[in-house]
Amino acid sequence: MAQLSDDCFAFGGKLMSVEEAQALIEARIPPAGGRESVALRQATGRVLAEDLRARTPLPPFFNSAVDGYAFRHADLAAEGPTRLPIAARLQAGQAAAGLSPGTAIRIFTGAPMPDGADTVMMQEDAREEDGAVLLVPGLKRGANCRPAGEDVAAGQVALPAGTRLGPAAIGLAAALGFRDVPVRPLVRVGVFSTGDELADPGMPLGPAQTYDSNRFTLLALLAGLPVEAHDLGILPDEPAATAAALARAAAGHDLLLTSGGVSTGEADHVKAAIGQGGRLVFWRLAIKPGRPAAMGVVEGVPVVGLPGNPVAAVVTFLHLARPLVLRLAGAAPDSLPRFTARADFAYRKKAGRREYVRVRLAFGAGLPVARKYAREGAGLLTSLTESDAFAELPEDVTAVAPGDELRILPFRAVF
Ligand code: AMP
Ligand code: MG
Repeated sequence: MAQLSDDCFAFGGKLMSVEEAQALIEARIPPAGGRESVALRQATGRVLAEDLRARTPLPPFFNSAVDGYAFRHADLAAEGPTRLPIAARLQAGQAAAGLSPGTAIRIFTGAPMPDGADTVMMQEDAREEDGAVLLVPGLKRGANCRPAGEDVAAGQVALPAGTRLGPAAIGLAAALGFRDVPVRPLVRVGVFSTGDELADPGMPLGPAQTYDSNRFTLLALLAGLPVEAHDLGILPDEPAATAAALARAAAGHDLLLTSGGVSTGEADHVKAAIGQGGRLVFWRLAIKPGRPAAMGVVEGVPVVGLPGNPVAAVVTFLHLARPLVLRLAGAAPDSLPRFTARADFAYRKKAGRREYVRVRLAFGAGLPVARKYAREGAGLLTSLTESDAFAELPEDVTAVAPGDELRILPFRAVF
């Protein structure tokens, strides 16, 4: 992938809004290049490298949309029943027959329309009697049939470059006959944790130690994105070792993520390390939880230093790392889906920053109801496992009252 200039993330402002951060990513990260062909079965979640153009129309031929009787609309009487002898029977997979005027053909869903037929009456609306069918009046010409190319015309772009191939897109590509699809290479993302206090799960816990969770959360978040993620372990709170590790990792990666060590404490060495090995831009995001984030470029590779507190790491991952990954992956930008719910709590917040409040949702009649998780600490992992969503309180809001409408970012859409 393209090497970035050291100052590509430079930003003059003091507190950066989430929108500014995302606009900067869009503006500064060149769209991904590269292309490889993968089998459709292996393509789920990958990003299309080229427009996928239909080589054949979909459906490929004019066919019946129902089980019923195909006939010429001109033969249908305007009033009263029409009686047409049944000349043939046509099932899905059988080659089209011709239709003589004044006759009908018994037809089944997906079977090709006989030449000359233009309309199908559903079997529920017709009655068979002595080798003929009795049709009722009032059906429109073309009813219950599907023209060739109704879904996708031949030559049309069915899926644009940049599409992330989900189940629907995979199904469409298959329906258009693609066995392989051109996709962007996976983004190689290396994930470090930082902190002398961290221990690997499974290891004995020393007196002042806590288990590393962020690395596992981040790798799990990345699992839903078009990346090849690498677990790069835990870095000590030591600038030289951190700088060396980042420089070494830059060689084999398109993006490096760290967590911890980016606030203003004395042991916050990630900032220093990025500065030592490349160029640091410290972003203070107008977001809670998650204000500090170190952005930088080491050896031409972007590095995002996420905050250490687990909830802050998740929130900043979603707003910084995720868009960055999608940009590097060549994916069309997306915005995370929100819906509206009603607050059943009161809450006060500072103006000028966006806040993510953990809530549990109750669904019933009317809008879903959002109940705030009782505790607010950015280090509480159970605040995520015991909640369903973030309520996203915009920058200008200073208070929430019971009954207020809230924008909800459901975990289901992102985790
Ligand atoms: P820091 O920003 O490094 O000062 O970290 C803030 C808080 O998050 C501290 O309590 C750290 O112990 C904690 N923390 C940092 N990294 C991790 C991690 N990988 N897993 C769990 N907790 C962490
Ligand atoms: Mg730390």
